[in-house]
Amino acid sequence: MSFKVAIIGRPNVGKSTLFNRLVGKKLALVDDTPGVTRDRRVHAAKLYDLNFEVIDTAGFETAAAATLQGRMRAQTELAINEADLVLFVVDSKSGLMPDDKAFADVVRRSGKPVVLVANKAEARGAQGGMLEAWEVGLGEPIPISAEHGQGMPDLREAIIEAIGEERAFGEDEEEAEDHPLTEVLVGEDIADPDVELAYDETKPMRIAVVGRPNAGKSTMINALIDEERLLTGPEAGITRDSISVDWEWRGRLIRLFDTAGMRRKAKVQEKLEKLSVADGLRAIRFAEIVIVVFDATIPFEKQDLQIADLIIREGRGLVLAFNKWDLIENPQATLADLHEKTARLLPQVRGLLAVPVSAETGRGLDKLMDAVLKTHQVWNRRVSTGRLNRWLERILGHHPPPAVAGRRLKIKYITQAKTRPPGFVLSCTRPEAMPQSYVRYLVNSLRESFDMPGVPIRMVLRAPD
Ligand code: GDP
Ligand code: GDP
Repeated sequence: MSFKVAIIGRPNVGKSTLFNRLVGKKLALVDDTPGVTRDRRVHAAKLYDLNFEVIDTAGFETAAAATLQGRMRAQTELAINEADLVLFVVDSKSGLMPDDKAFADVVRRSGKPVVLVANKAEARGAQGGMLEAWEVGLGEPIPISAEHGQGMPDLREAIIEAIGEERAFGEDEEEAEDHPLTEVLVGEDIADPDVELAYDETKPMRIAVVGRPNAGKSTMINALIDEERLLTGPEAGITRDSISVDWEWRGRLIRLFDTAGMRRKAKVQEKLEKLSVADGLRAIRFAEIVIVVFDATIPFEKQDLQIADLIIREGRGLVLAFNKWDLIENPQATLADLHEKTARLLPQVRGLLAVPVSAETGRGLDKLMDAVLKTHQVWNRRVSTGRLNRWLERILGHHPPPAVAGRRLKIKYITQAKTRPPGFVLSCTRPEAMPQSYVRYLVNSLRESFDMPGVPIRMVLRAPD
């Protein structure tokens, strides 16, 4: 049995566009002008390997009527009642509106599993709206672009998480009850411990191995997944062009996404030529942590840096593997040199873990996996608001923000709005005037004070309400 999904949100956030993308046909009307009335329909939808039905509610709220509010609410409630899962859509380009909160209340009261979708995430300035989305109190916003098809793998994961794996794949309807909403506290102090890990150890950790052609990705993957650790054979699963394999490393369940690496094992893949870097990069979207394989004999080529930069911009955790270390003649000096280059060329992820390995001999792979696990922890780390603000007070005492045009900039408080990767909101007067150098200083101190090396850290500045 498949499950039913209602796409809910105020007008113009992109519900129809998302509907079309999931249903795969131009069924719902997409129109810039509110007022286009559409029927409520249920349609078969597909998101990679997930099959479900979508209730199209896009028409309800655009019907111009005197009792619009009431009608809108009633219709929305009807659709939610019918649904097993709600996709609650907000517009990260425009930011939150009062209507968003009203709709969110209806969704929350229903008690149905919900995925908060921050649409239009590709738009300029969407990051602020993305963080704002936390304020509707429906958990972690999943950034997507319904129009451009971005963020769909994350949406898939979030749906599975919200509705439960059994239900998602249609095995057992009862199971869904056991999967409560992912709950996220925004701006609230998590009493104890001060720094907590916001992930579930029983879920597979998703990693991908990427790099330039011939860096040694296939060799590495095959060395990592030896036969005994293979839990399920590689199969063309998630998408046509990406395959995953589950294995265990020191008792930790790991799902490895790969596009080119498993030719040896996967018959289907045998015919494929080496895929381009761009293909490999698609695996990034599935992954939480990405291992970037460098050929240590020719490190830091332009393409290597482009790949690393993309991963950072995608907000994934990354670990560098300096591969073919067996070919390096002067390991100590080379390692020092490579670490220096890493720090200099990738300053936005200070403390990035970079491990020398030989995929061919297997040396260093254990250390590499240690680094992956450590980075995953940091990527998931949540620091309590209380502790953050004690830290902020100290920083402001030592090194307050500069005066701009004779006026001191004031910082009021800081909260961690998200994890995976860590994202913070800094409340301050005149955010636009705050020098970038000072923001960088804050990010670097945060990194050091709370031991968050090597992951992208996002900081959004906002004027107090
Ligand atoms: P609905 O009223 O919630 O059903 O919203 P629509 O799907 O009709 O979309 C409203 C407007 O937002 C349309 O102009 C869409 O083209 C636009 N839109 C939808 N999704 C996106 C997106 O991901 N990015 C951007 N930039 N615009 C989008
Ligand atoms: P991919 O294109 O990134 O998947 O790279 P491959 O795994 O196919 O490796 C490219 C070449 O580098 C092959 O000839 C491998 O045998 C070789 N290679 C991979 N890892 C190592 C290593 O650790 N040491 C040495 N010496 N050669 C390696």
